[in-house]
Amino acid sequence: MGTILTGACQSGGQRSAGDENFSYSVEKFADLEILRYRVPGFEQLTLQQKKLVYFLSQAALEGRDIHFDQQGKHNLAIRRTLEAIYRSYAGDTAAADYKNLVVYLKRVWFASGIHHHYAADKFSPEFSPEYFTEVVKSLDPSFLPLQQGQTVDELLSVIVPVMFDPAVDAKRINQADGQDLITTSANNFYGNLTQKEAESFYGNLKKTATSTPISYGLNSRLVKKDGKIVEEVWKVGGLYSEAIEKIVYWLEKAVQVAETEGQQKVIEALVRFYQTGKLEVFDEYSILWVADASQVDFINGFIETYGDPLGFKGTWEAMVNFKNLEATKRTEIISSNAQWFEDNSPVDKRFKKEVVKGVSAKVITAAMLGGDCYPATPIGINLPNANWIRTLHGSKSVTIENITDAYDKAAQGNGFAQEFYRSQNEVELMRDYGFITGNMHTDLHECLGHASGKLMPSVGQGALKADGSAIEEARADLFGLYYIADAKMVELGLLPNDSAYKAEYIKFMTNGLLTQLVRIQPGSSLEEAHMRNRQLIARWTLEKGAPDGVVELRVQDGKTYVAINDYGKLRTLFGRLLAEIQRIRSEGDYAAAKNMVETYGVKVDAGLHNEILARYKTLNIAPYKGFVNPVYEVVADKSGEIADIKVTYSEGYAEQMLRYSKDHSWVNR
Ligand code: ZN
Repeated sequence: MGTILTGACQSGGQRSAGDENFSYSVEKFADLEILRYRVPGFEQLTLQQKKLVYFLSQAALEGRDIHFDQQGKHNLAIRRTLEAIYRSYAGDTAAADYKNLVVYLKRVWFASGIHHHYAADKFSPEFSPEYFTEVVKSLDPSFLPLQQGQTVDELLSVIVPVMFDPAVDAKRINQADGQDLITTSANNFYGNLTQKEAESFYGNLKKTATSTPISYGLNSRLVKKDGKIVEEVWKVGGLYSEAIEKIVYWLEKAVQVAETEGQQKVIEALVRFYQTGKLEVFDEYSILWVADASQVDFINGFIETYGDPLGFKGTWEAMVNFKNLEATKRTEIISSNAQWFEDNSPVDKRFKKEVVKGVSAKVITAAMLGGDCYPATPIGINLPNANWIRTLHGSKSVTIENITDAYDKAAQGNGFAQEFYRSQNEVELMRDYGFITGNMHTDLHECLGHASGKLMPSVGQGALKADGSAIEEARADLFGLYYIADAKMVELGLLPNDSAYKAEYIKFMTNGLLTQLVRIQPGSSLEEAHMRNRQLIARWTLEKGAPDGVVELRVQDGKTYVAINDYGKLRTLFGRLLAEIQRIRSEGDYAAAKNMVETYGVKVDAGLHNEILARYKTLNIAPYKGFVNPVYEVVADKSGEIADIKVTYSEGYAEQMLRYSKDHSWVNR
């Protein structure tokens, strides 16, 4: 549910890119690499669709400051102070301190604040508070974000400890059991109150809940004022009013060029939500949005709640996109054959659905990223989040193919494949088929895997407790692994030949047994559900196939590789495990789930882990990536009407961030 995060490591082959004049990589700093993505197909949209993309894109940029402010109440003052230095410092810009300050600013831009976008801990500046103070004091104070009556010293006394003292605001979100998760988290979702007070506030509201509950607390900051706990609602006339008014301004323009009446209603409902702040209206909007199948589509609002340790508050995000009609045929073929896949799976008949409906999924092209989707962005999205809406009205599942394509292209030639695949044979398989089989596996996972199978009548959704997500992800992955090798894939025209699938088998097994370990620290075990599921599948098949030598970990020249000796038998093993995992899920066999996850999915071989980390380090690959957006330029005719919209890709990272800070900055702090 929600967003599917991108993996931290890239496993692309080294396919020759056909775009000689387009550079996917923009720049690298700290643990980050900035990439560029293309928007193929934009030129082929109608003028009306281009206008729609353009207006929605502007709306996607106007909320940028909301996101910064949600993540920490000093983020904007810090960003603006750093930007003032970047724009106007007259001192030595070749000094190491200055260069480190620029890296710090680039990290603040990337993370929309002073905490790491993924790990959520505060990054420490590699320059001293004394240096920073001196530089700030050398600037013309009119460039600084001084509040009414505030002096430069007063500004510094607020932001210096927040930037430099490791004890202040150490974590954006703290999830450590036993601590007060509100007072120890630096995010700006709550003011002046404790976890207990926040929980009792929402607990009391929920007591009146119906079968169609609103998403309590999603669009507000919760604060204690004069001893009373109140919500400061994010809406026109409420908190963030100025930014939200700008968003509404562009949405109202978008209404005028909507593709259909249905889509017009979607955008109007969102405008009404921003104007009233009523969560019932947000649900109305979500229901309309799920039903809308226009080519141009968008997300704009307070959506994911991962940023709040209590899971109430929605972080502002935006993404504008349009359907990739060619690639969507692929997911439609899969969905329309859903019953065949269900009937022919190796699962026990009792656990199969008599009538299966594939989840409708589409492949999209991202045209603009904003808020929490920028610059780090998901590769897939499945919304809305409200469970009752998903049950009664369905959900939209999308794969963002121009983003996965950019990851793939940027990874070409980074040495990953040569380092971790055993021989030239594997490297070539990955190069020729890695991208299509990767997308195909994701499609099978999303469209069929999660939608297949059924629970026994007495079994509840939460029967597998904490191991439920790892088992559910394993089920969906195994469904994809089993079927990607089926002759049906070639018959349906989804894969070019009967050996292309091997690329996915090599990638999956290498990732599950070896390379995903680069994402965790030495000494840690696996925590995240997807990582557990991948290792579970890989370790189980390694063990069960050992007597026949199906798969092995082979050491060559002191380096460990995955060798798949019998692809056919590996497929049979995936089928056997799928049958067992489906049984566990259908019967709600918690003991078996726990045993399966703990035996195969959690523990890490320390020696192997160290070896993989050392090999990965030599490749000098940035573990996290993000994107600059393209630039859309309006071409006006003589009368000033929009005659065309042009897309260009030449803007740099700092250039884009500074422009956004100048043109789309609507939160006063
Ligand atoms: Zn999944």
